[in-house]
Amino acid sequence: MSADVPTGAPLKLFNSLTRQLEEFRPIHPGEARVYTCGPTVYNYPHIGNMRAYVFADVLGRTLSWKGYKLTHVINITDVGHLTDDADAGEDKLEKAAAQNAQSIWDIARHYTEAYWADIKALNIRQPAHWPIATDYVPKMIAFAQSISAHCYELPGGLYFDTSTVSHYGALARAVSDDGEGRIDPVEGKRHRADFAIWRKTPPGETRQMEWDSPWGRGAPGWHLECSVMSGELLGFPFDIHTGGIDHREIHHPNEIAQNQAFCHSDASGANIWMHNNFLVERSGKMSKSAGEFLRLQLLIDRGYHPLAYRLMCLQAHYRSELEFSWEGMQAALVRLKRIVMGLERLRAKAESEPAGTAELSLHQIDEAISNDLNTPRVLENALLISELKGHASDRLVAIFECDKVLGLGLQALTRSALRIRPKSAMITEPEIEAILARRKEARAAKDFATSDRLRDELAAQGVEVMDGDPLGWDWKLA
Ligand code: AMP
Ligand code: ZN
Repeated sequence: MSADVPTGAPLKLFNSLTRQLEEFRPIHPGEARVYTCGPTVYNYPHIGNMRAYVFADVLGRTLSWKGYKLTHVINITDVGHLTDDADAGEDKLEKAAAQNAQSIWDIARHYTEAYWADIKALNIRQPAHWPIATDYVPKMIAFAQSISAHCYELPGGLYFDTSTVSHYGALARAVSDDGEGRIDPVEGKRHRADFAIWRKTPPGETRQMEWDSPWGRGAPGWHLECSVMSGELLGFPFDIHTGGIDHREIHHPNEIAQNQAFCHSDASGANIWMHNNFLVERSGKMSKSAGEFLRLQLLIDRGYHPLAYRLMCLQAHYRSELEFSWEGMQAALVRLKRIVMGLERLRAKAESEPAGTAELSLHQIDEAISNDLNTPRVLENALLISELKGHASDRLVAIFECDKVLGLGLQALTRSALRIRPKSAMITEPEIEAILARRKEARAAKDFATSDRLRDELAAQGVEVMDGDPLGWDWKLA
């Protein structure tokens, strides 16, 4: 399957532009060029944000698995993203810096590193490029100059006139420029949907991040950044642009308008636009303005391995909303433990068996992933493989092949790695082992009353004794 020439089932992807499944046809034969809107590094990413990158990673892995030479770009937005997508409010990073009395550059570095740590923990592959928006400001200015015929100046900065491109907002399916969510807070804009390309620093103010430009000292608009970084690193047109579904409404229509102006074309700049649906959480814990919000570290602190969260994402199709719950996390962790234990048994069997020769067909897996990245089906099929007849070593090879797409890191994952000490745990591991040793003695002496009492003692401390598990015990997670 990892042949040089793309093979197997035709890859069908849902294109938000046409709202249809379309066959992936690379612009450059044998290659796939993908741009993913990256994080705004003013705070930690929440796990909903990370769903967007798990999705982009599965897309990238699938393209690689099917034999395309992948060039993936994920940008880092460290300037220009306002607190309100409809072109209003403050710059998210300037605001965070003011609140924390910290340099904006330190804030950006800190949260970029935190984001990269989450990327690593979730086994998301490194893209070819991580462009950082502030490194591209001169190129943004040049891009803005080249589309000046589509822009007009207001006291606040340079604005894009959305009436100068054809089908503005087609991606959002907006029928008119006063569609939903299009607020108009800036005086003098020609159309409500017009957006800032360059925002001037208001007179008498200074920003920590500002640059000279033909339109005065200021900072680039967020939409401009993605057009410039994608065009620079992948070349227009490129194959696939991804982001969360919220970007389908404003950010991506605005990128498209800029791309059209820049390329003197009606085309959007990317052949396929893909959007992942949201991870939702009812109690509002996903909001970064809430005190304790749902970031990956919170899951880890509570004893959940980050790859259990990845599995939770894979269990839903990327275009479906996914509801977060702790029960769901628990179920995903248990499932992952079962998978790993199944593989450990299969490994032991493979060692005691003569090596296999027959290759298992991965046809169904290929069909499932090629059908708009149907990861729930791939998972089901991959798990079936472990139950098939035939040589254990063949089955192992087949499962690890599926994992090239799923990215659960199954070759290296062990049952003990999945046992993460919750932050709230009071008892230490040696104490647990000592109690278990006493329990073993009691059982050997057929003193079941003592054995049960020790089990209850551990249960009261949040530890579950698991006689069927190779590790013998685990943390009880709420
Ligand atoms: P931001 O850092 O706000 O620019 O968001 C980073 C990425 O996360 C974008 O692609 C968003 O569309 C996406 N995103 C934001 N919230 C969620 C969510 N709850 N579930 C899935 N993706 C999200
Ligand atoms: Zn973007």
